[in-house]
Amino acid sequence: MDFFQKLGNTLSNTGKDLAEKTKKLSDTSKLNHEITKQQEAIDRAYNQIGKLYFDNYSNLDYPDLKELCDSIKEANTKIEEYKAEIIKIKGIINCPKCNQEVSITATFCGNCGYKMKEESSESDTNATTEENTNTEN
Ligand SMILES: [Zn+2]
Repeated sequence: MDFFQKLGNTLSNTGKDLAEKTKKLSDTSKLNHEITKQQEAIDRAYNQIGKLYFDNYSNLDYPDLKELCDSIKEANTKIEEYKAEIIKIKGIINCPKCNQEVSITATFCGNCGYKMKEESSESDTNATTEENTNTEN
């Protein structure tokens, strides 16, 4: 504030019109900056309102909002699918304890020793490994 007043005062000595113009310009750019800041605050609040509703009231029967909540759930499911796809492609998973990258075939994390999978998991899943089954060509 002070700076812009001083700037305005200084310039008014040399030419009042120019000073007026400069002051107006700096005032408007400052105000536009403030507007952007306020709009960001509004967006953040909207976002939080949405999250609050989703977390606490999405089971209530508001048809419009239910559709939006379902789209969030759908997107979350897709994110999980894509994450699983990335893990499959990379053959690497992040350790849930230390976040270090660990091969999906590893039983323990090489960094912190976290147990990455149950040893008896092979009995549940089909042991038919479909690796390198290039039947094409
Ligand atoms: Zn680890």
